[in-house]
Amino acid sequence: MLRHTGNFGRRDLAPDEIIRVVKERFRTCNFLFSLGGIWIAVGALLLYGLTPIAKYEEFGWAGPCVMLIGFAIFTGAFAMTLAIYRCPVCDKYLSRFRADRLRCPKCGAQVKEAV
Ligand SMILES: [Zn+2]
Repeated sequence: MLRHTGNFGRRDLAPDEIIRVVKERFRTCNFLFSLGGIWIAVGALLLYGLTPIAKYEEFGWAGPCVMLIGFAIFTGAFAMTLAIYRCPVCDKYLSRFRADRLRCPKCGAQVKEAV
């Protein structure tokens, strides 16, 4: 539900909508980090010869290659997080290590459900 206020920087969002949007963005970033992690882990398994295909010499490139793809996805996830993991109200970057995880450090909007 977007209301056109003539001000594109700020939107009037309901509190539960803010929480939902932030949760969705967090999930996207988390998924990308996990995906990178999986590629790195699989690459490491190949590199240390812990998978059946690792014993074939022609697959020697696979370990480092798969790990590199993992690092690429990981750095992509980092950039993506910087770009989208932001407060929907004031656009301030929401650090994973912010002091109050429930609120935006800049505008004080509640961004996470209290458990
Ligand atoms: Zn904010």
